[in-house]
Parts: sequence; structure tokens; C-alpha cells
Amino acid sequence: MAKKQFKTESKRILDLMINSIYTHKEIFLREIISNASDAIDKRCYVALSEGESGFSRSDFKIKVDIDKDRRTITVTDNGIGMTREELEENLGTIAKSGSLNFKENITSEEKAEAEIDIIGQFGVGFYSAFMVAEKVVVTTRSLKSDEAFVWESTGVDGYTIREGVRDEVGTEIVMYIKPDTEDEVYGEFLRPYRIKGIIKKYSDYVRYPIVMMEEKTYEGTEGTFFEEETVNSMVPIWQRNKSDVTDEECNSFYKETYYDMNDPCAVIRINAEGSLNYKAMLFIPSKAPMTYYTKEYQKGLGLYTSSVMIMDRCEELLPEHFRFVKGVVDSDNLSLNISREILQHDRQLKQIANNLEKKIKNELKKLMTNEREKYEGFFREFGLQLKYGVVSDYGVHKDTLTDLLLYYSSLTDSLVSLEEYVSSMPESQKYIYYARGESIAKIASLPQTEAVKEKGYGILYLTDDVDEFVVNILGTFMDKEFRNINDKDLGLETEEEKAEADKKEEENKPLLDFVKEALGEEVEFVRLSHKLKSHPVCLVSEGEITLEMEKYFKSLPGEKENAIKARRVLELNGDHRAFEALKKAYEEDKEKAVKLSKILYTQSLLIADMPIDNAVEFAQMVSELM
Ligand code: ADP
Repeated sequence: MAKKQFKTESKRILDLMINSIYTHKEIFLREIISNASDAIDKRCYVALSEGESGFSRSDFKIKVDIDKDRRTITVTDNGIGMTREELEENLGTIAKSGSLNFKENITSEEKAEAEIDIIGQFGVGFYSAFMVAEKVVVTTRSLKSDEAFVWESTGVDGYTIREGVRDEVGTEIVMYIKPDTEDEVYGEFLRPYRIKGIIKKYSDYVRYPIVMMEEKTYEGTEGTFFEEETVNSMVPIWQRNKSDVTDEECNSFYKETYYDMNDPCAVIRINAEGSLNYKAMLFIPSKAPMTYYTKEYQKGLGLYTSSVMIMDRCEELLPEHFRFVKGVVDSDNLSLNISREILQHDRQLKQIANNLEKKIKNELKKLMTNEREKYEGFFREFGLQLKYGVVSDYGVHKDTLTDLLLYYSSLTDSLVSLEEYVSSMPESQKYIYYARGESIAKIASLPQTEAVKEKGYGILYLTDDVDEFVVNILGTFMDKEFRNINDKDLGLETEEEKAEADKKEEENKPLLDFVKEALGEEVEFVRLSHKLKSHPVCLVSEGEITLEMEKYFKSLPGEKENAIKARRVLELNGDHRAFEALKKAYEEDKEKAVKLSKILYTQSLLIADMPIDNAVEFAQMVSELM
């Protein structure tokens, strides 16, 4: 029998398949099963459009058989089948060859990348069988014909077509699995457990039953029996009516699919109809996976078309700031063979992604309003992600994310949103006050919080490194400016009070300059404080870089010495006994005044949780004075 040659393009793809180093060879089964499912669809279409009597969808199935001894996997369907001409046409050429532009003269690296792209995202259909099989034999009988034909190929050298025998309309594809090599154990595809796993993974929602023979033993009887078992569950949970799916089912689907022990914090179901047709089922986890804030974590949603999986993690569907969301999108408008390249520029997909972002945002807002405790639990896990989202891309996402943020405030024991903070501000309060520190307790005890607290105003306690960047990006919220409690002017004083303070500052100028002199380069300048009540001293900063930012920069690897420093300002409480003592020393004993200046400065460092590099000197000075 004469061998026929494949068309050029097909030959190249076959060559690619046979020599593939692609790691997910398992997708061959998805492709073969998906063809079988299409063939059954076509068969049903004919029956329905011609009003065939005695027709029932339930007569159809896809069978997968494994023969370990012959090293074969056989996939059989009772779909539409193929005539001799169709065999020639469909399996001798590859339908998509036009869109596969193989570049000439590409490097082997580029080639490997192109290969991964083509196989992984295109699928490349029927020919992907050659990734695992050294020979493929297709026996088929068309609905239009009484004869059966056999197509056979061992690869690039061509194929043969001969007459064959088949009682039923439909197609049988026998794949002769390659022998194992040093690098690849093809034999894994002959293990029923593995094959079942692949079917579950990629083809669970194929509309027709995919059956395998299952070996069973029964108590009281001898020997083993084979029973047909349906492997796929056929109707995906997201395709079922919302009212037919219990919370329990949703939760266990989530837990099984995404390997999470906890129930999700919220489930979002979307059934979009109109210009964009798609269904989506999204989950907001209640706990962040261990790897969440590392490079290891990968975002994305499962992408399906008519219940057949295209991609298990499509990144384009989720914005970075909602990367914690899990779930699936199923759209009939997409082609199974869509490439990643195309996906990135696909308008429909972009629109879907935009809609999903809105839905996720709304769901979170709803949780925040209606199920506060749950939302706070979520926020503890993923709040940091939302904050990163606010500062990323120069703040373009801030409108979406700002009202999802929560902070501790000095006025309440619980978390408040910015909106809640602002709407409970008294008329007289001009600014949104905030203080940054390592922990709530540390911030709460900062001396410079005194004046604001005394007025009865709330202070937002910022405990994450990213928080100050968030505040900087926001600038204002609901027309109220943010104000760091370290700022010189907190807007708490009347004009008169201010004038009086300025006068006092002027009077004490020589002393303040003296202290600055004593401390040298350590501080930018020394001034009287407007915000201290009971404490003698505090350290603040002036300008963009705050003390907390300085600490953060210092903590970065390799930055300890060169890190950007805050411009330190020492504030003294002019009404404090310590200040009186300093003043007295300044007038009577300059040497003592220098020591007192250093002691006060070191105290301010300790309170601000800044490192001190003269601890011994400090201790000596204190005991000397005692
Ligand atoms: P695609 O499925 O994307 O068209 P394939 O290379 O997978 O590309 O298949 C080529 C063609 O072969 C299919 O379009 C279909 O017409 C035919 N074919 C493949 N498998 C079967 C089958 N099991 N039954 C009937 N026709 C099939």
C-alpha cells in the first residue's frame, strides 16, 4: 500500500510533536477526547435536524481503554465518523496550519519557546497524540457510509488509508505508546489512575460520559470483574443553576480544586448574557496560602469554552490587586485553540476581565458593609495586597481600592474604613491624622500623639511599611488632607496660640541653637513642640522621608549603610520640668547642658524605636546625674 505524504505544514507540526520536549504531554488526551465530543455533537445535530426517530442523547459516550501488554490507549466514540475523503482531508492536513507561522532561521531557544506556546495553548489537536504515541491507527465509519476505513501513521514519513471493518458509526483511535526512555516514562500513560486523573483535570465537563473499564472485586465472589465506570462529572458546577447548587457543594468544589482546608470567604456567581456570553464562578479565599506573598504564588482563573478547559490559569483575567481570587470563567465565544498571544490582545477577554474586577470589588464592598467580621478576617490576610494595589502603577487603581482599606484608629478598638473615619470627624477637625509605627501599642504610646488625642480627634494607626506610601499616593480622602502627627503644624491651634508659641520659640532661640550645636549632624534642627503635653521630648522628621521609611529602607538587604535617611527634628516641650533643668544648666553650666541635650535626644530615639549607637555613654551620663 502506497504511503501518502503529509502536507508540508502538517509535517512540520508532526515533527514538532514527535520530538517534543513539552512537559505537559498529557494534554494529548484532552485533544482526542475533545474531537470525540465534537464528533458526537455533530452526530446529534444531524439527528435533531433530521428528526431521527428513537434518538436519545444518552446513547452517546466516549470510551477510553488501556491495554498494558500491547501498550495502547484506545479512545472510541460513536459520533459522526469520517468518510475516506474526510479522513484524507482532516488527518492529512492540519486545519490550523494557516495560523501557525513558523519562522525560518530561529534559534533553538526561540524554537523551544514557540513549541511550548503552540502545544500548550493551541493544543494542536489530533497530532498531539504523537507526543506520546509512536503509531496511531484510526478506524472510522461515517454516518454517510456503510464502509469503514483505517488511517495509520508512524509519523512524518506519511500515512496510509485502507478499508477496514467497523459495525457501528463512529471512530476508534488506537495510540501505541512510545517505549520509555531515560528522560521520559511514557508508561505512566498506561496507568488507569493517571489517565483518570488527566480526564478529570481537562475533560471533566465534557457533555458526554467518558467511560473506562474498572476492575472490581466483590466480597463472597471469586475473581475480579470489569465494570464500566463514568469518569467525568459532565455538568460543571458553574453551569448549573445557582439555585440548584448548595453552599456546601460550592465550598467543597473550592476546597478540592484549590487545595484549601478553609471554606472560601465569599463565592461570586456570574451569568452574563448579551454581547458577552460567559459564566463565572469566583472564590475569595479566607486564608492566604503560605506562598501568597512570594514569587511562587501564581494568579489566574481557569478558562473554559463550553465546559472544555483551555487553560488552567489564565492570568489576563485578574488584575494584580485581586490576584488572591480563584475560580473559573467559561465562555462560548472563545475558541479552544486560542493562543496565549491572541488571548493577551483579545477584546472579549479584556471586557470579561473588566467585568470581573467590578464584581469582585462590589462583593468585597458588600462583605465589608454586611458581614464586617468576615471582611476583617479577609482583610487581615489580604489587606496588604490591596494596599500594594493602591500604590502600584502610580496610583491608577486607587479609586477601586481605597474604600476597601481598613485601619485601626485611636478612638476605637476595631478597624475603620477611611470613610467611617472621615464621617465621624467633628466639625472642627481639619485633617485626617495618622501615625506610623511598628505596632498599635507602640504608636499609641508615642508622645507626639498627645495633643491630637487631647482634642478628642482620632488618629489612624499605620502599622505596615506600605501604609505611608498609600497615604502619600492618596494625598486626600473625601476632600480631607492626611496629616502625619509628626508634622509641625497639626492645625490644632488658634492664631493667638500660634503667635504666642512663635514668641516663645524666639525667646529660646539661643538655647535651641545650643542644643542643635551639641548634637551636631544628628539632627537637622531643634524646636519647641506644639504637640507635647506630659512628655519632655519627641523625635520627628521633616520632608518626604519619615523615620519609619528610614527604618524600612535600612531593613532592605545591603542597604544598612547607604539607606536614605530622614531629616531628624528634635522637639522639646517648653513647659516641661526637663526643659527648665536644661535652661538652668545652659545658664550656669554649659558642660552639663551638653550632657542633658544628649540625654534628651537619646530618649527621643528610644521612644521613636530608633537604634542608638552610644548606649554605654548614655547610661554613664544618666547615672552621673543621679
Ligand atoms: P480540530 O479538531 O481543531 O479541527 P484536529 O487536528 O484535532 O483539529 O482534527 C482535525 C479534524 O479531524 C477535525 O476537525 C474533525 O473533522 C476530524 N476528526 C478528528 N477526530 C475525529 C473523531 N473522533 N470523529 C470524527 N472526526 C474527527
